[in-house]
Amino acid sequence: MSGIRKIAVLTSGGDAPGMNSAIRAVVFSAAHFGISVVGVLRGYDGLIDWETIPLEVEDVRNINNQGGTILFTSRCERFLQKEYREQAASNLKKNEIDAVVAIGGDGTLRGAIDFRQEGINIICIPGTIDRDVACTEYTLGFDTAANTATEAIDRIRDSSVSHGRCSVVEVMGRKRGYIALWAGMATSADAIVLPEKWDGNFDSITDAIKRRHADGRNSYLVVVAEGVTDAPELAERIREKTGIESRVSVLGYIQRGGQPTAKDRMYGSLMGAYAIEILNRGGKNRIVAIKNDVLIDYDITEAINLENNTLDSFQYELSLLLSE
Ligand code: ADP
Repeated sequence: MSGIRKIAVLTSGGDAPGMNSAIRAVVFSAAHFGISVVGVLRGYDGLIDWETIPLEVEDVRNINNQGGTILFTSRCERFLQKEYREQAASNLKKNEIDAVVAIGGDGTLRGAIDFRQEGINIICIPGTIDRDVACTEYTLGFDTAANTATEAIDRIRDSSVSHGRCSVVEVMGRKRGYIALWAGMATSADAIVLPEKWDGNFDSITDAIKRRHADGRNSYLVVVAEGVTDAPELAERIREKTGIESRVSVLGYIQRGGQPTAKDRMYGSLMGAYAIEILNRGGKNRIVAIKNDVLIDYDITEAINLENNTLDSFQYELSLLLSE
């Protein structure tokens, strides 16, 4: 027996569709094993200030279809300081919490690694639309965000075809190009600009557009991941070099919200239940991950250095072929 009787669950960092399914599965699975659950509000801030709510099965029964996170989230600067992590740990000990399940992205994982030094058992679930947690091939929210971006770009493309323009659409992803790659391929983009591949050479994009223009095309779509290059600057370069009117759309936060897709609900449920399985077998300081579509887990400190999540070269090469 693992001896786990009471746990806390929280969501932290950028919100992501599917987090609610993970919370739901944590609560259902914990209840099944006689473990009680408190929900910590606003991520690591709620641990420091001890803002919590009891979570019973009835509280989470119908949250699968809700976007965002019922526990709210935050970027918590204080958690970077040891004194606040100590305060959070002391709150957990005072309230007899045996383990924490933290659902979040790369930053949340880094916070968890620091937090283990306070003697807290913390299990992480990767939840972020950016798919930027190195140890796992999937993070909750990516599928919904890629679908939202695809739908939005389809609409932008319609207008760009009608007017004979070039549309430059910036999507989210932090330092990863997955949303750009997937939404770009799905919408038949003429160029997809990815952080993993960007060499600062605008000419390859403008030359391709010029070539197509010479072949009689009159509308173009460029999908660019945030942070790679300045989207307005890219549009300006296209205008300068090709003479084609170029408009920028920054999709922004619409990619974070909305009803989770079936995939995000399913993976949220699987990952939430798996976190409880880890605790039941006595696991400490682990992160849930997906490898070859199978649930596995790693020690959180080891996980930060793993690279299971590099851009798939076949997908990338195909994106080039399909945008020729
Ligand atoms: P995400 O988890 O989506 O990547 P953030 O990068 O904002 O989002 O990280 C979430 C929170 O994790 C931060 O607000 C902070 O409280 C905590 N965190 C991030 N990096 C560290 C770190 N190196 N040490 C301690 N806590 C961290």
